[in-house]
Amino acid sequence: MKNKLILMQKYSQQNHPTIKSIQIIEGKNNFPISWLNQQGYCEYQIYLEYMKGIKTPETKSMRKGTDIHNELEEKFIESATPATFDDVVEMSKSEATISRECFVISAEDGIRGFIDEIWMMPNEIVIIDDKPGTRAYPSTINQVRAYCLAFKNMTDDERPIKGALRERGTENIFWSEEFDENAEKEIRYKINRMHALLDGQKPFIATKNKNKCRPCRFSACCKECKL
Ligand code: SF4
Repeated sequence: MKNKLILMQKYSQQNHPTIKSIQIIEGKNNFPISWLNQQGYCEYQIYLEYMKGIKTPETKSMRKGTDIHNELEEKFIESATPATFDDVVEMSKSEATISRECFVISAEDGIRGFIDEIWMMPNEIVIIDDKPGTRAYPSTINQVRAYCLAFKNMTDDERPIKGALRERGTENIFWSEEFDENAEKEIRYKINRMHALLDGQKPFIATKNKNKCRPCRFSACCKECKL
């Protein structure tokens, strides 16, 4: 497979006046896809971090994740040639490519983010998100499904799209699924809920599971903490 460094395309946006990291694109709130992972863990974290602007120091596991990620990225760049998103999609119809940190955006669904790794092959597209451990949580599945949706919205490609979770720093793909109609319907439901939270139509619900509060970096300042 050929390593291709996909250049990030430009788009016009405005920052949301009060919510950190929300951009307004084509008149609609647009949030980072990684928030879907956080939403599945505890929606209240999103409220504290982005609506209230509470900052916490980086945890040990966040630091470790960033280090592994950067190492892989540096190694990849050494052998990758730059190309536009559209060129890589077209080229991969006849020759398989691998790209890392591929930016995807859907103004229609109000989501954007960077795909850890994407394999574009003549017969299918595989979208990979690297995670610590080997357990496929609903929250991590939601994240990878949203990348699939954003990718799908950016192309008219007919190839099947597969979402996959891989153990960080290894080749071990421990979960994968075809991004079919059902997966698309389910992730749209989650995305719409997130927009309803951000628009103030629904309240952010805190987890009832104290095992989630224990390692939470917001536990010291969270009035909903169950500990
Ligand atoms: S302390 Fe518990 S309730 Fe509060 S944000 Fe963290 S996980 Fe959610």
